[in-house]
Amino acid sequence: MKFHFLSSFKPENIDAADWNNWTWQLRHSLKTQDDFSQHFELTKDELLAFQQGKELFNVRTTPYYAGVANNSKSDSIRKILMPHRYEMAEGHQQMLDPLGEKKNNPAPRIIHRYSDRALFLITDICSVYCRFCTRKHFTGQEQAFIRNEEYEMAISYIRKHTGLREVILSGGDPLTVSDGQLDRVLSDLRRIDHIEIIRIGSRMPVVCPMRVTDDLVKIIKKNKPVYLMSHFNHPDELTSEAVEALERLVDNGIPVMNQMVLLNGINNHPALIQALNRRLVYLRVKPYYMFQCDPSMGTDHLRTSIEDSLEIQKELWGHLSGLAMPNLSVDIPNGGGKTYLVPNFQVSQDGRVRNYVGWDGVEAQYISPPENQIRKPDASAYECEWNDLKNSKKI
Ligand code: SF4
Repeated sequence: MKFHFLSSFKPENIDAADWNNWTWQLRHSLKTQDDFSQHFELTKDELLAFQQGKELFNVRTTPYYAGVANNSKSDSIRKILMPHRYEMAEGHQQMLDPLGEKKNNPAPRIIHRYSDRALFLITDICSVYCRFCTRKHFTGQEQAFIRNEEYEMAISYIRKHTGLREVILSGGDPLTVSDGQLDRVLSDLRRIDHIEIIRIGSRMPVVCPMRVTDDLVKIIKKNKPVYLMSHFNHPDELTSEAVEALERLVDNGIPVMNQMVLLNGINNHPALIQALNRRLVYLRVKPYYMFQCDPSMGTDHLRTSIEDSLEIQKELWGHLSGLAMPNLSVDIPNGGGKTYLVPNFQVSQDGRVRNYVGWDGVEAQYISPPENQIRKPDASAYECEWNDLKNSKKI
């Protein structure tokens, strides 16, 4: 293997069969100050955060991910899982619902923002409560798997909205639910004729890779096409256990794409971004998005500036192959949708002539043919499908 991946730390007094069992990991999660003190020497700032009681966004980690944090040479992983007193500080921008999801919530647990796709929040539980979480208005309230009545309403909403093409299972973490519950959701969605693609957005391959069992893979395969959207943020999260989980998925034909978040003092360095994304591509995981951190409550200290993110992206440009380069994007607050952030290499334009300076200083022009030369091909075989997509309405 080209890259060397570290194993996570398994305490000697724990049986390997327990450690490698995802339900054991969930049952033995660290949730309280006492639990965390047994694994970490807490700093004054961390202790102060624990003392905030109810005001603090839920705290939880698997023993596995605590081990990753303790094994890492830097404190980056620790900062992802450990509360800090800065979460209580007044920020420059702090929103309870930065993506405006509450106003796009037409049925229980459904977020319908774009006409062709919707989020289905099947649980609010996560095995790790990431300090940067966007959905703090919902996540971690211990509501668990959606109640039956609400589930039927959500499925019926998806069934009725024939313009929907994709459903993205989210939460919370949809892979914290049981195999039976997940199979029920995937099979019910698969039975809906207009649903082409199902995505599962999960941090479990990162924080509890033992969740990716043969049984889980069978359930996902049975309901194909299902894309697994992983959420690795730092190269140290790619332990040998995580690698095994990713390989089990892709070896079984399940496409895996990674969405990361740029985080201040955690991964906002080009050396870390290239290390993470080259390793992911090597493992056949496509780096998809590199998000600007959303301004949710208590995340001001974890957010980078857009200038810093663009600078990192510009440094990587030309050094990192397109295959390994995630799309830098910001979600416009209040439900404005995603927008790509890209370095601008165009220095001037005169009519059809555009002047560029490339990433390594090459200067050149691109001259477009005149407009009256532009002709469209015959697309009649696909126009009906295109018009359907364009005209599908949200509500
Ligand atoms: S796993 Fe996702 S939903 Fe859960 S706390 Fe982390 S970012 Fe939020």
